[in-house]
Amino acid sequence: MATILKGATVVEALDERLAAEVEELKARGIEPTLAILRVGERGDDISYERGATRRAEKVGVAVRQITLPETSATEELLAAIAKLNADASVHGVLMFRPLPKHIDEELVRNALVPQKDIDGITDLSLAGVFADTGKGFAPCTPSACMEILDYFDIELRGKKAVVIGRSLVVGKPVAMMLLARHATVSIAHSRTENLPAVVREADVVVACVGRAKMVGAEHLRPGQIVIDVGINVAADGTLAGDVDTDAARDIVAAITPVPGGVGTVTTSVLIKHVVEAAQKATR
Ligand code: NAP
Repeated sequence: MATILKGATVVEALDERLAAEVEELKARGIEPTLAILRVGERGDDISYERGATRRAEKVGVAVRQITLPETSATEELLAAIAKLNADASVHGVLMFRPLPKHIDEELVRNALVPQKDIDGITDLSLAGVFADTGKGFAPCTPSACMEILDYFDIELRGKKAVVIGRSLVVGKPVAMMLLARHATVSIAHSRTENLPAVVREADVVVACVGRAKMVGAEHLRPGQIVIDVGINVAADGTLAGDVDTDAARDIVAAITPVPGGVGTVTTSVLIKHVVEAAQKATR
């Protein structure tokens, strides 16, 4: 029976550490502050905003919400970002995407300074992940995968890792982060031939496909560590990961649950990045 790598355990440890670091910052007169920039009233943005605000406040990080109307022009967003860039009391900025179609998203996301880019949305931050320059921050979801692997002391050096998915938000950055930790990494995608055999080769599997329960018994073997990034909402509102957890549980060594796995840790990583940004800005 697989060990369930629960996100809540990771979050608890992380939050405890963050609360102590926030205390230290406050003792120096610095209040770590997250600005959340939202355009329009999308339900999933609002619920993520609520969750992030709750998590931030729990460890003492202040949150400032900036909401612009759905009809805002690119220039108005650029002006809002310029203001946040110049505001020394704001340490990190979370901007929800996708932005409304009429907005030039590439221009807007790259207007943010990498020092405040706590969700790794700028090209400079992503370049930092690929070139290991330490500029900006890695996107929160791949960082959450690494946080989980680290918390549970999963050895990566010399191990074979397979990442299923090659998006710029999850698959590619997590592959680079595993590589930086000396894993031997393969990236699989929709054109990969004989995916089950490729995945069975891996010691560590990161599934970021976006297809409910696609990774099943035929992809898995005993001893594997499985990180399930997928969040797939069924018609009845229930959530499923990219891995068939029921099948996997009887085969692999350990697996993250959905819900309660990577997604849970992602929000805490966001707050961790705000604290790190505040530390770096005030060193
Ligand atoms: P995405 O942009 O749609 O990318 C999906 C990737 O999976 C693509 O690279 C695609 O390959 C590959 N793929 C699709 N079908 C495949 C198949 N049959 N076999 C092998 N590979 C296949 O999705 P994403 O934004 O990376 O998100 C992936 C999942 O993570 C989603 O379920 C999303 O909800 C979830 N997610 C979770 C969090 C979190 O905090 N936990 C955050 C972000 C996303 P091609 O490139 O060849 O098309």
